[in-house]
Amino acid sequence: MTTLLRSRRHEARAVNSRNLSWSESSIADIDVLTARGVSGSTLGADLERLKFGYDKSAYQACVDQLSLKFQRRNWHRVSASLIHAALHEFLDDRCPDCGGRAAIQLDVDEFADCSTCNATGQRRYTDAERAHASSVRLSAWSHHERDYLELLECIRAAVNSHRRGMTRALADAA
Ligand SMILES: [Zn+2]
Repeated sequence: MTTLLRSRRHEARAVNSRNLSWSESSIADIDVLTARGVSGSTLGADLERLKFGYDKSAYQACVDQLSLKFQRRNWHRVSASLIHAALHEFLDDRCPDCGGRAAIQLDVDEFADCSTCNATGQRRYTDAERAHASSVRLSAWSHHERDYLELLECIRAAVNSHRRGMTRALADAA
């Protein structure tokens, strides 16, 4: 009974949360909403859980769903090493120089735009890095690049669909 009450209270808090940011602190709320089936994408929900919930148990589910999604969209299979590399790029997407803050601290209260990422905070992967992570020779990368970019697009689309579903659910609850 206590568990049921606590669960209901948690769900109420989650659907009333007006400021659902995609951070570690709100992953519990995100999980509750996902469990209610409001997400636009199961893959997107699992990707968010893997990235922001630091839930490693979601990894294999992401690999399997991504593989299926790719196959449905492209009518051919993609190698597992490309999937692992694309997931790694999704998870580790912060600029290594500024740590994703988009600015570099020069002095106590002096900051400058990070030139490595052009102040976007995003890490930009080179072909060499992508090929290496995919266990593909750089000279052969051009044969795999299209599939790789398609995998990144699958990830992006799933996450966007999930977030749209959540935003709608929050708007309905407000
Ligand atoms: Zn940067």
